[in-house]
Amino acid sequence: MPALYNFSAGPAMLPAEVMQQAQEELRNWQGSGISVMEISHRDPAFMRMAEQAEQDLRELMTIPEQYHVLFMHGGGRGQFSAVPQNIAAPDATVDYLNTGVWSDFAIREAGKFVKHVNVAGGVEQRAEGKAIVAREHWQLSDNAAYFHYCPNETVDGLALHTIPTDIKAPIVADMSSNILSEPLDITKFGIVYAGAQKNIGPSGFAIAIVDKNLLGQPQPQLSTIMDYAVQAEQGSMYNTPNTYAWYISGLVFAWLKRQGGVEAMGKINAEKARKIYDYVDSSAFYRNEVHPEFRSRMNVPFLLADDSLDALFLQQANAAGLVGLKGHRYVGGMRASIYNAMPMAGIDTLLEFMHDFAQKNG
Ligand code: PMP
Repeated sequence: MPALYNFSAGPAMLPAEVMQQAQEELRNWQGSGISVMEISHRDPAFMRMAEQAEQDLRELMTIPEQYHVLFMHGGGRGQFSAVPQNIAAPDATVDYLNTGVWSDFAIREAGKFVKHVNVAGGVEQRAEGKAIVAREHWQLSDNAAYFHYCPNETVDGLALHTIPTDIKAPIVADMSSNILSEPLDITKFGIVYAGAQKNIGPSGFAIAIVDKNLLGQPQPQLSTIMDYAVQAEQGSMYNTPNTYAWYISGLVFAWLKRQGGVEAMGKINAEKARKIYDYVDSSAFYRNEVHPEFRSRMNVPFLLADDSLDALFLQQANAAGLVGLKGHRYVGGMRASIYNAMPMAGIDTLLEFMHDFAQKNG
């Protein structure tokens, strides 16, 4: 079978080595004669694996003791409602930046649980492309329980590459599509959360990294499985966790460590993204509409000058072993999602294909 490169935005490709190991261990995990899927989450071997996964994540992200690391249910959207219910009173004010599709969903969900959801800023069109409104124009509340933003908008391919460190309220970040993609100073954040299915593991699973100081007064109706304090107290095993997702995530963390961690990934990811943007910018056949300063290094959307060729592009890309390139249904066009698991060879193969397609159809 020829090499196949999967550019899906999520669930996304996982490292080949991880998939190989999972396959080898599928029916006989650690010599137990059964699958990791089939044993109790209280089994000592499972508990050891789960603790190791947490330790590896703490090491990869340099997470101090001051933070809980929680393995949660319900993916990224589960956290949209968990955050306000855990750390804001029903009559609180919360600040959100609205930079794209996922911020917008988070804002709507927060509105169910807190009275005042203030949208502090958003996007604007500049001559060089779509941009995030400059920090000095954000309208922050005086008394916000927290400030929420999505540093990497998966659908829009729009990213805020600097952390707004001058904000008084605790910062909450939805890092579903950029967690572990580069070094990060976690101490600048109150909560960082991520659905797992891009840079971590299977879908339906989420990681929440929560400053212990923020907990103590959850909203009364908060369902217990989404209660950060309870999950912390119970080692993320208040109810049965998604054991298989936890296991795969652990394999991914170990793989990341072998690659040199987030330092090394950050360099490779920057180079992968740069190659695609440079090519798109140099071509009259393709374009990207995001301002260079705000371009995502994880999700690269691009449009064909003639969109009647979209279907042919996707069909031929698929035939060439380049799958998952269709843009999100909200925005159309193409999108190459290039998370940690996407090797440089995948980028080079994509660019060769794009060049070839432009020559034939331009
Ligand atoms: N936030 C971001 C930034 C995302 O990209 C996604 C999923 N694409 C979500 C939240 C929602 O994640 P889930 O489908 O796991 O709820």
